[in-house]
Amino acid sequence: MDGFNENDIRHVVEADKAHVWHHLTQHKPFETTDPRIIVEGKGMRVWDATGKEYIDAVSGGVWTVNVGYGRASIADAIRDQIVKLNYFAGAAGSIPGALFAEKLIAKMPGMARVYYANSGSEANEKVFKMVRQIAHKRHGGRKRKILYRERDYHGSTIGTMSAGGQTERNAHYGPFAPDFVSVPHCLEYRAQWDLSGEAYGARAAEAIEEVILREGPDTVGALCLEPITAGGGVIVPPEGYWPRVQEICEKYDILLHIDEVVCGMGRTGTWFGYEHYGLRPDFVTLAKGVASGYAAIGVTVTTEAVFEMFKDDAGDPLDHFRDISTFGGCTAGPAAAIENMRIIEDEALLDNTTAMGARMLANLEGLMEKHRVVGDVRGKGLFLGAELVADRASREPVEERLVGAVVAECAAQGVIIGATNRSVPGFNNTLTFSPALIATADDIDAITDTVDRALGKVFG
Ligand code: PMP
Repeated sequence: MDGFNENDIRHVVEADKAHVWHHLTQHKPFETTDPRIIVEGKGMRVWDATGKEYIDAVSGGVWTVNVGYGRASIADAIRDQIVKLNYFAGAAGSIPGALFAEKLIAKMPGMARVYYANSGSEANEKVFKMVRQIAHKRHGGRKRKILYRERDYHGSTIGTMSAGGQTERNAHYGPFAPDFVSVPHCLEYRAQWDLSGEAYGARAAEAIEEVILREGPDTVGALCLEPITAGGGVIVPPEGYWPRVQEICEKYDILLHIDEVVCGMGRTGTWFGYEHYGLRPDFVTLAKGVASGYAAIGVTVTTEAVFEMFKDDAGDPLDHFRDISTFGGCTAGPAAAIENMRIIEDEALLDNTTAMGARMLANLEGLMEKHRVVGDVRGKGLFLGAELVADRASREPVEERLVGAVVAECAAQGVIIGATNRSVPGFNNTLTFSPALIATADDIDAITDTVDRALGKVFG
């Protein structure tokens, strides 16, 4: 808060209230209250415009600031690069673009090419365009359908919303793009089949095969999945799911697109979520943790086999991937990403994530024993959720306003936590936790102790 006096801050708040349209926000309450404005961050902590300190248990709200706030070395890497060359777009390459791609691919056996853009939505859109172009080039336009899963989220554009499994987020924005088809979710706690564990996972994967057979395998080009569903409820697919998914994709010649926008870059204790399951994806998309929010960057990673399909072997000028992202040519993104990756490696943050994730999961399990309202806890690494139910037997979700009350009480007590998207019965009731990968045991305990007190206050 250095350098700000009370008048400056009041001016900022008034300017915000007068002119800023916040993401995901109903503005009516700001007619009588002030929005929260975060002015500074250091490590795991942030300070708002009133000077109040918070532990940030959600890495900047949406699973992004993996290496924590105030990293001068990332700022230096960006500065050094942009005074040398900030930007050049289109067909030319750049030094940090080449070097980050090399480092990233070294961590992704089987993958070969990195395509630069700015956001997770954009990275996913690139895949959808590649899949459609492959359909036109190779399959007479037929194999162009893209399957997505209920509860998964892939972005905010009309294209990515067409693959949006959180239907509540899509209300009022249709119609969407054709040839996107949903497959059932795989959250065992909200069971759709009378099975459990591995058998449940295999059944949920077979449900994908049923959709493929219904649609016609020769019409389905790709299957797009989050390794662990994030905003849709922190859904870890049961054992037995992924091996069948991989088999099904191979059986029907369907390209596997893994959306690692949240799970990627260490969030689950491995570089990528798909590593836990030994998957062999054709496309991987990454964004949030790639530069931890120090610069805007999203990447689409493909295999050499996919890349080869776009080589102009027949002399056709329409053959290559005719796509550009203006700010995919901004060098700040890959410069920040190289330093971000170095920090994760040098500070052994993957190991820390595994250890602290286990501690947090155990703490949340403790809360489940203590508070009947906690019906289920789940997640991997520092990517966790606690589902709140009014009744454990029926698994009836608690009222949405009570989920909001827990989040608000935690914030009042100095801890920012999240909750999954609202307005869908059965899915609007999960508290979410995604602290930075630098979290210490004390940070983790402080977060879960605060949730304990907040649950006690809201539910008695
Ligand atoms: N995929 C997933 C799994 C996401 O959670 C998000 C963002 N929450 C996106 C894609 C879209 O990313 P962006 O907001 O950067 O466009």
